[in-house]
Amino acid sequence: MDEERRRGEGETTLRRTAPAGGTPAARFDLEPVDMERDDSSMTIVWSDGHRSAHDYDDLRRACPCATCRHEREQSVAGGSRGLLRVLPAGAPAKAVLRDVRWVGRYAFRLEWADGHDTGIYSLEYLRALCGCPACSAGRAAEDVLRS
Ligand SMILES: [Zn+2]
Ligand SMILES: [Zn+2]
Repeated sequence: MDEERRRGEGETTLRRTAPAGGTPAARFDLEPVDMERDDSSMTIVWSDGHRSAHDYDDLRRACPCATCRHEREQSVAGGSRGLLRVLPAGAPAKAVLRDVRWVGRYAFRLEWADGHDTGIYSLEYLRALCGCPACSAGRAAEDVLRS
């Protein structure tokens, strides 16, 4: 019986508890309705029907935690030398996602097999990381509009 229960742990549930005080003012109104994970990537299905595929390596590199941000800044400042320091010694060459947990209502905490779990990826950030042709084109168009 315990076995059964343990197998269920670590499963990502996308069900969230209803907000206590009615509809909050969301600056980002999309939400994931489904998530598929395989060995090397995860796909998020959004409430607008869009599917964004995220390679674990890309997600790991884009980790928004203070430590990783600092490492990336260092590597930019010091050429490419610092790039590999983002991954701790002994980390697997390929990023392996161990778990995904909700943080509040607008972000996920991604837990990596190398033990790194301080990256909080907001939904907005995840959606922005979508590398599909439509999103890439959309971002390029925004840049044009802004300039
Ligand atoms: Zn990090
Ligand atoms: Zn996309």
